Amino acid sequence: MSRSFRLARLAGIDIFIHPTFALLLAWVAISSGFQGRTLGAAAAGVALMLALFACIVLHELGHALMARRFGIATKDITLLPIGGMARLERMPERPVQEFLVALAGPAVTFLIAIILFAWLRLSGDWQSLESLSVSRGAFVEQIMVANVALLLFNLLPAFPMDGGRVLRAILAARTDYVSATVRAASIGQGIAFLLALVGLFSNLFLVIVAFFIWVAAGEEAAAVQKKSALAGVTVRAAMMTRLQSLTPASTVGEAVELLLSDSQQDFPVLQRGALAGMLTRQRLIGALASHGREAAVGPLMEECPTATPDEALEPMLTRFDATNTRSVAVVDEGRLVGLVTLDNVGELLMVRAADRRGVAPPVS
Ligand SMILES: [Zn+2]
Repeated sequence: MSRSFRLARLAGIDIFIHPTFALLLAWVAISSGFQGRTLGAAAAGVALMLALFACIVLHELGHALMARRFGIATKDITLLPIGGMARLERMPERPVQEFLVALAGPAVTFLIAIILFAWLRLSGDWQSLESLSVSRGAFVEQIMVANVALLLFNLLPAFPMDGGRVLRAILAARTDYVSATVRAASIGQGIAFLLALVGLFSNLFLVIVAFFIWVAAGEEAAAVQKKSALAGVTVRAAMMTRLQSLTPASTVGEAVELLLSDSQQDFPVLQRGALAGMLTRQRLIGALASHGREAAVGPLMEECPTATPDEALEPMLTRFDATNTRSVAVVDEGRLVGLVTLDNVGELLMVRAADRRGVAPPVS
């Protein structure tokens, strides 16, 4: 989200807007301008879109402020063309808390719809329901209808919609979090399948939405299963300890030989025994083409993330996101003791899954 720009700060939370959102506004302006054939129609289309997204910000603030009640901060709220996204610092631990945080957003949307409905009735501007739709009718009525649509869509019991989290919280009250997530995800995929089926005969856009729901449900289940499989596992259990290293004075040619002799891809560079950086395979291959085999690796090494052997593995994995290397160096009292790669972690997950199934690994 680093390329998003900050729009405002509400209740201590930064509201960001994604650049693609500007494209959406341009598209709305052009298409409603074409329909109405006037500049005023284009402006009305954009104003409607902006009002809708203001409602979505309020919805996301609902989640954020409820989470705050349970001591969970919100990093930021980002507006994307597909809707809003509040990034909570962590997920609520107790099912009751997740239930309330997930419902707080739809509750805000419901409140907005009720207030607009009451306002329309009292001001006498109300038209019959049959003549209403998101794309027709007076401005306030269109916003009300859109909020009702948003509410119904959000309450679909499928990840990543709020309804999916509500469903998981209800299931998790009776069973454990992982089983609840897996069941909620398969219910969500069932709903995605039905949506796609309906979409095939009515609206192809629905098929695309169904596809995203299907993928998001699978990802949610996989992430929770991975987290639980790695619970209680330390970095030490996943690190490889037989590894090759270089010094700043080593040559690219020596590094290439190490690369070809083994499966190791990134090489720690040690200066007087202490970790100075990492030479990645990508850098090495690039340097071989541009500098030749005689060049020293010192100027080529990159900064690399580090971990200690006794820290928990799962939260450490986020360090891979912040770096170019596919390896994290494990350092104990200033000494390099191992390397964790995403491949190691993948292998560890497979081994633990096989252990849990009670299948003994084949003896060779
Ligand atoms: Zn929501």
